[in-house]
Amino acid sequence: SIVRKNTPMDTDREVERALRPLSFGDFTGQDKVLNNLKVFVEAARQRTEPLDHTLLHGPPGLGKTTLSHILANEMNAGIKTTTGPVLDKPGDLAGLLTNLQPNDVLFIDEIHRLNPIVEEYLYSAMEDFKIDIMLDSGPNARSLQIQISPFTLVGATTRAGLLTAPLRARFGINARLEYYDAELLCTILQRSSGLLKTPIEPEAAMELASRSRGTPRIANNLLRRTRDFAQILGDGTITMDIARRALKALEVDSNGLDDMDNRILKTIIEKFKGGPVGISTIATACGEEAETIVEMYEPFLIQEGYIKRTFRGREATEKAYHHLKIPVYLSEAA
Ligand code: ADP
Repeated sequence: SIVRKNTPMDTDREVERALRPLSFGDFTGQDKVLNNLKVFVEAARQRTEPLDHTLLHGPPGLGKTTLSHILANEMNAGIKTTTGPVLDKPGDLAGLLTNLQPNDVLFIDEIHRLNPIVEEYLYSAMEDFKIDIMLDSGPNARSLQIQISPFTLVGATTRAGLLTAPLRARFGINARLEYYDAELLCTILQRSSGLLKTPIEPEAAMELASRSRGTPRIANNLLRRTRDFAQILGDGTITMDIARRALKALEVDSNGLDDMDNRILKTIIEKFKGGPVGISTIATACGEEAETIVEMYEPFLIQEGYIKRTFRGREATEKAYHHLKIPVYLSEAA
């Protein structure tokens, strides 16, 4: 037999899969979105119809992929997954679509990055469950329209603003995922540590939760790395002491902010005296696209109270000064 040794990457990916909630009941948080989806799923099941096409948007790591699998499970249906940039030609999409069983989910991650030709091809599939297949090429080219199984397209995107209007209009369900507060992340961490058979002290779980940038994926990653420290430095239990040592060794920001978060705050404070400053100016100074800042970074910084959005632009709050250990008297507002 072929015995394949796992590389660390494989193992991490397998662990990530093992931690993935499989049903509505396993999924923590996002109550508003979840309660609506439960109704839509139940109603579709009673009618023995596919769930309406569903667009999930929000920053990375909040559970869009997880939810798409849950939707398929709850519909008792299968799921096929792909990503926007991979679907190069209409033929690639046709291959996927013709293999779907009734009520299956087709999950397309990064759906804002679909090739426009493929996207247009998707429209009739979504609307009428019909696609045109090209037979032959050149002078003999003909197209044949075929019926595909009624299915649910679940699209995920971090950049809802980049979706074209016609594509957006074809989703009957539109759900935005929000960052998780520390209590919810703590619940997720307790569940994950149970699955990993790694005991964790409640304060240690809370410490990891509050330094995970509101993001389950980051929380689970921190848990896995902290588990390594617990195994090597302790007896396998994640204590508060182990958690602190691990977080220090991993150089995790005291409030869980990442490099770009800190760069944005520093830019507003150091280059623009704390603001107000326009988003495109911040973006240029940080070397990032304005849209990415608006969709991936700013919502968390606003939720956590590091920046304020005013009609004159973005302003750093006192909390941002404290976080960066910059005296507030340097601010124009003070
Ligand atoms: P996205 O597709 O939005 O980038 P994922 O669905 O891949 O995010 O989620 C990343 C990881 O976080 C998954 O492995 C999953 O285990 C975990 N996760 C996400 N949301 C939740 C949740 N609400 N409850 C428990 N675990 C979650």
